[in-house]
Amino acid sequence: MDQADDKPVTSLRQLAAAENECRRCPLYRDATQAVPGEGPSRATFMLVGEQPGDKEDIAGKPFVGPAGRVLDAALKDAGIDRAQTFVTNAVKHFKFEMRGKRRLHKRPNNYEIERCRIWLDHERELVQPRTVIALGVTAARSLTGKTLTIAKMRKVPTTMADGTTLVVTIHPSALLRIEDEADKRAAYQDFVADLKAAAKAGKR
Ligand code: SF4
Repeated sequence: MDQADDKPVTSLRQLAAAENECRRCPLYRDATQAVPGEGPSRATFMLVGEQPGDKEDIAGKPFVGPAGRVLDAALKDAGIDRAQTFVTNAVKHFKFEMRGKRRLHKRPNNYEIERCRIWLDHERELVQPRTVIALGVTAARSLTGKTLTIAKMRKVPTTMADGTTLVVTIHPSALLRIEDEADKRAAYQDFVADLKAAAKAGKR
């Protein structure tokens, strides 16, 4: 049953339940559970990542793994209170491949992103953020319907069809993959600068 087309969703609790029952794409089959967005029912900022990771899939909560810790630090450095943000993902089930006993992240494809967008749309309708921050290309694709490069989109906030401000930046997991410490510090500062731009846009 396609829950998304079947029942009205009028609260975040209903939304979480509907996501867990969702069969709109094959990703529900191997994941532990859907990972719904988390945060205040009305929030100034909505942060949209790609999909739950291994830790998030088990915990059922978004951004509780290593990338979440980077995000927490960057939000603090940008002057954004995480308690006032709604944090979610473009795709609600964890996509992975087995490598030995490890579950390695696999990027969702365009079909999976499109099929899952209905849940992000519901979240935006319920939470009504003033500013949406797309963390990485998957989130940017889900929010704009276009395949964009981060380099092209970041720095300049845009306005979405419903009037919400959209800021695009990298996914914090990208910082975890940079080995050179100086490069990592510079990339982190750029990430914080993007979040500061979002904070400024949110005050307008
Ligand atoms: S990833 Fe999204 S569209 Fe696919 S089954 Fe899960 S909730 Fe449904």
